[in-house]
Amino acid sequence: MTTKYHHSSVVQNVKMLATRVLKLRDNIKQAAIQSGRSLDDITVIAVTKYTDAKTSAEVLPFGLNHFGENRVDELIEKQKELQDETITWHLIGTLQRRKVKEIINQIDYFHALDSLKLASEIEKRAEKVINCFVQINIAKEAQKHGIMSEEAFEFMDKLSGFSKIRVVGLMTMAPIDANETQLRDIFSSLRILQEQIREKNLKHAPCTELSMGMSRDFQIAVEEGATFIRIGSTLFTEESNGNIR
Ligand SMILES: *Cc1c(COP(=O)(O)O)cnc(C)c1O
Repeated sequence: MTTKYHHSSVVQNVKMLATRVLKLRDNIKQAAIQSGRSLDDITVIAVTKYTDAKTSAEVLPFGLNHFGENRVDELIEKQKELQDETITWHLIGTLQRRKVKEIINQIDYFHALDSLKLASEIEKRAEKVINCFVQINIAKEAQKHGIMSEEAFEFMDKLSGFSKIRVVGLMTMAPIDANETQLRDIFSSLRILQEQIREKNLKHAPCTELSMGMSRDFQIAVEEGATFIRIGSTLFTEESNGNIR
């Protein structure tokens, strides 16, 4: 490949990415207007799991500097390669206890806290207070991670014993086949739970944030109160994202 062709394909990719980012922003804006929310309250996490470090970095000039990975090894690898202090790193997937020591001091947010055993390991390994989302299995799917809504209050109480854990909010993943009505139901249930916990004014659990919504369902999530949306395929893959709207 000559440099010239290579260059034009890079330009093309950047243009394609720009189009995707603009469309994403537009859709978020519409959802925010629809629900009377401020755009400043919604943070996009670019989920980079489909792509390499170099391609991930192409979203930075568009102001997308929150990166999410669901695998520990991938996150560490990208972080090493990019060496970029401006990126805020989110571990959005499940974390095995044996991996805690490798990753916990490398990230800014952890989205999948769902057991006291994991909390204990974090307590042991963390060198600073870790911003955590408690993952809730709102839809009660058998094979999904997360605690049941009914257990949330007791779980929050027990977390007060850990000095390194700060519960910034709740996170959920909607079932892949949920329809719009079901999605609204799931996201609003998470919001109600989050508000109930926030109102308790727990020192270790301010619980002001809601991590919910992915490529397929982020507009509904924004309308229902999401403050962090986790967007992967819409930004980084070829095919249309099958947005429910
Ligand atoms: C992959 C992933 C996402 C992003 O999903 P898309 O549908 O590609 O936007 C969000 N959250 C978690 C936990 C993921 O694993």
